[in-house]
Amino acid sequence: MDWAQKIDLGLRERQGADAYRQRRAITDGNHRLLEYQGRRYLNFSSNDYLGLARDPRIVAAWQQGAARHGVGSGGSGHVTGHSACHQALEQRLADWLGYERALLFTSGYAANQGAIAALAGAGDQILADKLSHASLLEAAAHSPAQLRRFHHNDAASLARLAQTACAGGRLAVTEGVFSMDGDAAPLPSLHQAIRDAGGWLLVDDAHGFGAIGEQGRGSAWQQGCHPELLVVTFGKAVGVGGAAVLCARPVAEYLLQFARHLIYSTALPPAQVCAINASLDAIVAGDELRARLRRNIARFRHGAAELGYPLGQSGTAIQPLLVGDNALALRLGERLREQGCWLTAIRPPTVPPGGARLRITLTAAHHEADIDALLEALDHAHGYA
Ligand SMILES: *Cc1c(COP(=O)(O)O)cnc(C)c1O
Repeated sequence: MDWAQKIDLGLRERQGADAYRQRRAITDGNHRLLEYQGRRYLNFSSNDYLGLARDPRIVAAWQQGAARHGVGSGGSGHVTGHSACHQALEQRLADWLGYERALLFTSGYAANQGAIAALAGAGDQILADKLSHASLLEAAAHSPAQLRRFHHNDAASLARLAQTACAGGRLAVTEGVFSMDGDAAPLPSLHQAIRDAGGWLLVDDAHGFGAIGEQGRGSAWQQGCHPELLVVTFGKAVGVGGAAVLCARPVAEYLLQFARHLIYSTALPPAQVCAINASLDAIVAGDELRARLRRNIARFRHGAAELGYPLGQSGTAIQPLLVGDNALALRLGERLREQGCWLTAIRPPTVPPGGARLRITLTAAHHEADIDALLEALDHAHGYA
């Protein structure tokens, strides 16, 4: 098969399975309302959980940062891209979250890839929750380390895998809050299971950081767990973009030598670092935002349960409505959009086969009336299929 045939076949396979992915050019997708082709929708698809992506204080911090430092960092952190602002943000994150060191990366994807690729080598073992994010599983799959997947949120399953022979180190990998189900990992018991086998835990808290825990410190803090490696990202509740890996001093020094995503990639623009810093101020002071988010979640769950929709275990901003069938999920999504509610149908391979769903994300920016409008639209859509 040549490349043209392979591409044609790949596209046709996706179309046949109702799994074809398309982007839409949206006007302002990071707001309570979004606009698409001249029509306004209530936005239930954004990961900007606290509504900070358009916060005027954070926008101003970015603008002032750009006026002062320009728009690009000018190089990798190993050359001249690591500025005093980068260093101050790393120090702040480390102090705030109780780690010796933090290292900034340009994205959560890069942080996971960089950290796992640098740490896990031949003879090592990576034990990953089977529902882990693509960035974690892909890093593990590309690593010369052995990859084993444990049952979702199952510490006993992790403990069993951690008893298999392994000449090198073991790294357990999970998420604080799962991106497609919104459920939380039992971090202390997972940590215990891997520690008993002499291994380390990496927690990717992309969806917990900022949104949950005291002052928004995230899942691990909330559960009193201190994983050896904590990945926090700034594109979700922080509302900006970028990520950091938190770890002990020697681990950070090791990553600085061997994490290629740090060494061979341009550092975050300093103005963006200023915006992240301003967003952290809002997050630390954001108990009221988090309380509003919790109220919106409770209102939605109560209403959706009354309508008879099958809700998952999630107590977080991510509220999946499990549909199962791809075509049905697409139709339901379409139906809700017709009624002015924008949410995303998520299909395999992003979720397991037969696990198609509508992924609803709630934010602190939603009004009570918005939640009620979503419930009303769901009521109308009910039985549509
Ligand atoms: C979004 C996400 C990432 C990727 O983070 P980016 O900063 O968007 O690259 C990593 N892990 C999880 C669990 C995520 O949901």
